[in-house]
Amino acid sequence: MQDLLPRENLPAGYLVCRYGEPGDSAYIIEAGGVEVVTPEGISIAQLGAGEIFGEVALLDRQPRTASVRTLAETTLLRIDRVHVQELLKRTDPVIRHLLTVLLERFRARSQFQLPADRRAAVEDGRIATQTLMLTQDLAHAVANDQLELAYQPLVDLPRRRLLGFEALIRWRHPLLGPIVPTSLIALAEKTGLIHSLSEWVLRRAVGDWPEMRRWCCQDADCIPFISVNLSAPDLSDPSIIGVVANLLQRSGLRSGELHLELTESTLIEDRDQVSSILTQLASLGVKVALDDFGTGYAGLDCLKSLPVSCLKIDQVFVREMLTSQRSHEIVSTAIALARSLGMTTIGEGIEEESVASTLEQLGCDIGQGYHFARPLALSSVAAWVTEARRLGHLQGTVLCD
Ligand code: C2E
Ligand code: CA
Ligand code: CA
Repeated sequence: MQDLLPRENLPAGYLVCRYGEPGDSAYIIEAGGVEVVTPEGISIAQLGAGEIFGEVALLDRQPRTASVRTLAETTLLRIDRVHVQELLKRTDPVIRHLLTVLLERFRARSQFQLPADRRAAVEDGRIATQTLMLTQDLAHAVANDQLELAYQPLVDLPRRRLLGFEALIRWRHPLLGPIVPTSLIALAEKTGLIHSLSEWVLRRAVGDWPEMRRWCCQDADCIPFISVNLSAPDLSDPSIIGVVANLLQRSGLRSGELHLELTESTLIEDRDQVSSILTQLASLGVKVALDDFGTGYAGLDCLKSLPVSCLKIDQVFVREMLTSQRSHEIVSTAIALARSLGMTTIGEGIEEESVASTLEQLGCDIGQGYHFARPLALSSVAAWVTEARRLGHLQGTVLCD
């Protein structure tokens, strides 16, 4: 970023900014030092390399509240308003709003102009308040067991046996009704609630698993599994290892029974950290699946260097594979790649039998999608299995009572 900022070399005693003039820039001191002086000429602060000044007037467009003079030969990096406004535009509305409130209080003036127009500021305020209230409600829901999980069946494509389930979060807000899972996860990630949310999901899914396992394939060549989604922040915090280890120990899950789904974007955040955490999770007997494969930018080398044992081919390609040659190519290449690396493949978003059978012919191991079942409440799993068997959609399952 520093390369974008103009550098100014100034002699000692140079007046960088004057009390009362408009503040169009803030400065980072690269070398040397400055003193901050009141209109009466009293020096109130001395700042050195690495420090910043002029930021308040820059942000709230009010005149400078003090003058600043160099104490020695000094190099400054100038941050101008256009640059800051570009950054602010890309900032979360909650942060923009908090900044606005903070500046308003700091200056004790009412005509702040951040962001540039008043309407945008009001909108930021509205979004910020809603987000903060929703965050509060979500924290309450996590702490008080008010979230739910839906379980979507995973079916062995060649033999149509039930292999396991993916756990998917559901939240019915008391006033707003059902919240879209992707929005809920985005909110949790943004506010740091994701760690307690993921822990809740893991606990609940592992706790519910014995009830679901009874309905899954019991053949000797099968290890039925429950699959849980994790987010990028979960993989940047080593405490997830202790959480999972603890849970596995207490629940007595066998090796291979817990799968964790991660997207490619998770893997590229802090490569070394993620790699170390995944290796430790794998050593606990946890299988790692790469979710939404084909939509991210992780690069193929991560498949070799990380302990990933399953690729979940994203539903956009699966959905179009019978109508788009390109999607068909992507799916068949992904399956071939996974096979050559000894990985399992799951085709997501299967809505028709023709797609299921095409995937099967291409060598895809497992299918998931509305064609088999929508995500189910735990209490509906038994009825779904019974009906699917009756219709001949599921084979070879042995119920262990
Ligand atoms: P995902 O992990 O890719 O999950 C699959 C999504 O596709 C689910 O949406 C599922 O309901 C939907 N789906 C499954 N089969 C079909 C189909 O045949 N057709 C169509 N159109 N959709 C199908 P859902 O439950 O809305 O979840 C959306 C995303 O939210 C998930 O995508 C995942 O990224 C995230 N998510 C859900 N639960 C959790 C969770 O507990 N933790 C985390 N970190 N993320 C979660
Ligand atoms: Ca998933
Ligand atoms: Ca997916």
